[in-house]
Amino acid sequence: MKRYNFIFLVLIFFVNNTNILAQNNVIKKIVLDAGHGGKDPGALGTGRYSKTEKDISLDVTLKLGKYLNAEFPEINIIYTRKKDTFPTLKDRTNLANESNADLFISIHCDSFTKSSAKGTSSHVMGLRYTQENLRVAQKENSVIYLEDNYEENYDGFDPYSPESIIAFSLSQTTFLDQSILIAQKIQEQFRDRVKRTDRGVKQTPLWVTRATNMPSVLVELGFISNPSEEDFLNSEIGQSYMASAIFRAIKSYKNELETSNYNLAIDNSEKIDKNDSSKLYTKKETTQKDVIFKVQIKTSLKIKMIEPVMNYNVDVFKENNLFKYTIGSVSNIEMAREVQKIAVSNGYKDAFIVAFINKNKISISDAINYKKQLQ
Ligand SMILES: [Zn+2]
Repeated sequence: MKRYNFIFLVLIFFVNNTNILAQNNVIKKIVLDAGHGGKDPGALGTGRYSKTEKDISLDVTLKLGKYLNAEFPEINIIYTRKKDTFPTLKDRTNLANESNADLFISIHCDSFTKSSAKGTSSHVMGLRYTQENLRVAQKENSVIYLEDNYEENYDGFDPYSPESIIAFSLSQTTFLDQSILIAQKIQEQFRDRVKRTDRGVKQTPLWVTRATNMPSVLVELGFISNPSEEDFLNSEIGQSYMASAIFRAIKSYKNELETSNYNLAIDNSEKIDKNDSSKLYTKKETTQKDVIFKVQIKTSLKIKMIEPVMNYNVDVFKENNLFKYTIGSVSNIEMAREVQKIAVSNGYKDAFIVAFINKNKISISDAINYKKQLQ
């Protein structure tokens, strides 16, 4: 009899424990944000169609919502607009924050002066000083000029001023890793399943991804200034393919977050760190207090074995419950940039430099300042 009680208790504990762990990662609310709307048409396209960016974004957003609803009726799908209306950027982010959403997906179409520009991209918050990022940032942020009191509403944020963008973007990065994860999954789906040109995951200073307190991504479905991409995005089948791709990415992200293997993976990682003699996961002890730069190439929820990149073995560290993979371990930023180039040319298009002092991650600017002090 005692034995049965014991088994029963163990079972109760196990079930409860699993529930607690699972509940923390459950996705209950998703905000879908169709870009632009109402008096703001967004990008106009080539002029061959009556539909502009606001219409295509809404069509794809509503399809995506329908797919999510059919597969996951338990998830609350919240739309920033379901019709041709004009919510401000602040209305959209306020709605997401007030509803405590677990994920924010903003859907847009790209556009450029040259009709040959093509491809899809996914943008998470952050700041990269590339022409491409500033182009997208200005295009998607400039809608605030259509509001009467934009200076008051956006605390002086000016989408055309680099200083303003920098001040606005130097901020918390709590949800950056999860945002990158969902963005990578969306780009993989666009590239591998819908055969779209992949412009990559970018860290772009955008109002909607910065002001939301949850993992968030802004998706550019393609260039409606490019006739063939415009044809595709105006077609019923093209819109269904793009909505399905985002749907599968969300499903995969949700599974990865919620699966019990996720918790097991973390337990295993502790063992790997201590016992595994594989070079890939060997941690080097730093005895001297010095700054080192590495290049982060990938992030995952479950631990993975990553093949070396050229001659560089892959290191892994854990931060915010995510495994982060780096290559290189160099003492100055110039060398780190060379390693970053190698990562990029080996397929890690979004590789970026990270800095550590002993085992603690620090910002790149702190690392550079610290190096200067030592000289
Ligand atoms: Zn847009």
